[in-house]
Amino acid sequence: MTNPSSNESAFKAIYEACEEGIIVVRKSGIIRMANKAAHQIFGYDASELEGKTIENLIPVSLRDKHVDNRQNYMKQPEPRRMGAGRDLLAVRKSKEEFPVEISLNVAELNGEKHVIAYVIDISKRKKVERALKKSEEQLILYASQLEKRVKERTEELEKQIIVTQKAEKEAKTALERERELNELKSRFVSIASHEFRTPLSTILSSSSLIAKYNTQEGAQEKRLRHIDKIKSSISNLNGILNDFLSLSKLEEGKLDIDVCEVNLVDACKEVIEELSSIIKPGQQIKFQCKGHPQSIQADPKIIKNIVINLTSNAIKYSEKDIHVGLDFEREDEICICIIDHGMGIPEDDQKHLFERFFRAKNAINVQGTGLGLNIVKKYVEMLGGAIKFKSELDKGTEFHVTFPKN
Ligand code: ADP
Repeated sequence: MTNPSSNESAFKAIYEACEEGIIVVRKSGIIRMANKAAHQIFGYDASELEGKTIENLIPVSLRDKHVDNRQNYMKQPEPRRMGAGRDLLAVRKSKEEFPVEISLNVAELNGEKHVIAYVIDISKRKKVERALKKSEEQLILYASQLEKRVKERTEELEKQIIVTQKAEKEAKTALERERELNELKSRFVSIASHEFRTPLSTILSSSSLIAKYNTQEGAQEKRLRHIDKIKSSISNLNGILNDFLSLSKLEEGKLDIDVCEVNLVDACKEVIEELSSIIKPGQQIKFQCKGHPQSIQADPKIIKNIVINLTSNAIKYSEKDIHVGLDFEREDEICICIIDHGMGIPEDDQKHLFERFFRAKNAINVQGTGLGLNIVKKYVEMLGGAIKFKSELDKGTEFHVTFPKN
């Protein structure tokens, strides 16, 4: 059998060696005994705690509440585990408050119930936890700042990319325009040298013949015929030059549009009048207007240019009568149509008709530059309209230019 007093001293040694503070408290709240660790934790000298109330170890502001808690606990004491989800505050002799973890147990000593409190000073752990939390917060802050910076930089880069792409596109367009203008100029030189030859030689021969007809009989009639030839050649030359000028203005974006109210009936009649000098013998331009005439908002010069181009083509590519019509009866649009019964356009060529310098294969023997329709399409679109055509080889061609009403 073991000697009780040796057991007691063994327990005492274990009790003193324990790293947790152990405080044994009477029902009245007086500390009966506290081990070495408890004294160290709370900053008291050996045995100094004994005889003091446990509230000495509680921060002043919590003491009253603690008395209530302690008394309630004694009514129904049950073990309470360490931690148990609560951070408690204790106070050292130096009045410094610090966090502790406490577990409670009840034991009967000499017939009296005592509460045994096991205390761990968790201030170091809390400090580490706080430092960890702080660095975690710092990390989160850095991460969000980094994210923000990355987002800002990405946005900046995206903007820069857009600017660069825009500049690149502009440079490409400028280069393309430059190339097209150069091409236009060189095409002009070759077309001019070819297309100018016929009207210029007509002018030359007609004017020298006029000189010869001076005294002959019937000279006046012949003279007038040659004057007509000269006029038509000059108008031909004029047409070619105008096409080049319009195209280079369009290409360079230098075309000024003066919008005003345009009376389409008057505009068509003026064009028919102007072109009467170049119609072929036996050819007539007939005008027809369907519905109640309305004016449109457009540039009158451009409208006339469109009608001149299409009507002079109809004259050029046919021998029979030409019909210029206006249709105001459609619901949403106004239509200008120019119809001829001439050579028509081969089906294969039709898809290229509005391309610059394009000439159909059956038009080789007719003078032309292949610019007129390209310009007309650009003009029509500039005014918000549309152009369509129907053509059958050797039967004739119809052009329909439409503008929205209002
Ligand atoms: P150009 O008449 O100076 O050649 P356009 O651009 O006006 O140039 O016309 C392009 C081509 O379209 C013409 O060369 C011709 O082949 C064809 N074309 C245009 N209008 C008609 C038409 N009324 N009848 C037949 N072919 C036409």
